[in-house]
Amino acid sequence: MTDYQHSPFVQAYPENGEFWAAAAEGTFLLKRCKACEKAHWYPRVVCPLCGSDDLHWVESSGRGTIYSYSVVERADPSYVLVYVRLDDGPIILSNLLKAEPDQIRIGAAVQAHMMPIEDGRTLPFFQLAE
Ligand SMILES: [Zn+2]
Repeated sequence: MTDYQHSPFVQAYPENGEFWAAAAEGTFLLKRCKACEKAHWYPRVVCPLCGSDDLHWVESSGRGTIYSYSVVERADPSYVLVYVRLDDGPIILSNLLKAEPDQIRIGAAVQAHMMPIEDGRTLPFFQLAE
């Protein structure tokens, strides 16, 4: 078990500790509302869709489709910002990895991969589905 509990991002938002713990193990969790049965992103303590606080964590399949994207060519190296509509419902902002710009199209199937970033957090990044 990592000591994620002591990291600043968990101490600031302890209600999301479960997300970070699962992420560190490679699992992508979403909050789902028991009242309206919809999932949302990012995780909150109150459902942004109906106001209920009766929420639980569910594992996302990580599957989705590209809702919109932008190739950031001014950066070196360039990268791809992407909005993904998850099969679970929510739209999530992330990066699309290992894709050439001419491969990318709206509606293309993508898959999340949990990857660590420099500050120690593990977050979902996306790749075009096989
Ligand atoms: Zn709800």
